[in-house]
Amino acid sequence: MHTDKLQAFVLSTLDYGDSDRIVSLFTLEQGRVRAFARGARKSRKRFGAALETFARIEAQARIKDGLSSLQQADIITIYPGIRADLARIAHALYACELVDALTPEGHPLPRLYRLVAAWLDRMETEAAVEDDRRFFEINLLNILGYRPALENCGRCDAPFGPAGALLPNGDEPVCHSCATTGKPLAATTLKTLRACLGTGRFGLVPFPDETLSQAGGLLDHALAAHAGRRLKSLEFLQQMSA
Ligand SMILES: [Zn+2]
Repeated sequence: MHTDKLQAFVLSTLDYGDSDRIVSLFTLEQGRVRAFARGARKSRKRFGAALETFARIEAQARIKDGLSSLQQADIITIYPGIRADLARIAHALYACELVDALTPEGHPLPRLYRLVAAWLDRMETEAAVEDDRRFFEINLLNILGYRPALENCGRCDAPFGPAGALLPNGDEPVCHSCATTGKPLAATTLKTLRACLGTGRFGLVPFPDETLSQAGGLLDHALAAHAGRRLKSLEFLQQMSA
């Protein structure tokens, strides 16, 4: 069996027995991979500090269906700037948990890999802001094929136009003919979210306050529906953003 050399982010780690650890990696080459790191708890010689959540590493692993075997892990960066700030830690952990919860195993997603890298690189030098969080989320949903209706009604396919859309409970955005109640989504909110999909660069699309709150409602709803479980990091994130 040959060993694969992989670029990866550590999404999560789980202690196993007295000396081992199971890690979830988001790799550029293979997508999400679960790997067994033998001796990772007992001796730090082999993996050092590389197996920390949201560390960016170069890994050598024997890839198998189910549980792969991690042979070596070398740090590219542990993002010391992020680790010095609680709000940034909260956002980085959230990014990792979202990827862990929403991506299929063993399916390469290079665009999503670059998106994660771009957000962590940005937070390494800049404060964590909600605009960037929402930018990350809409792009993540889009890459995974879960993009909410932003142009046409999710029910009758009519274009939204200047009246914008409504977000009924438990549904996707619909036009004002298809629903009479729901949270309003202004045309500018839909336009801002579409603009986020037109660039891979953080910081180019401003979110005014009202847009941020409307987009947040739509994205929170869509992500919760696809994650299928409550994300542990979300509570921490909400405390940090309050
Ligand atoms: Zn409609």
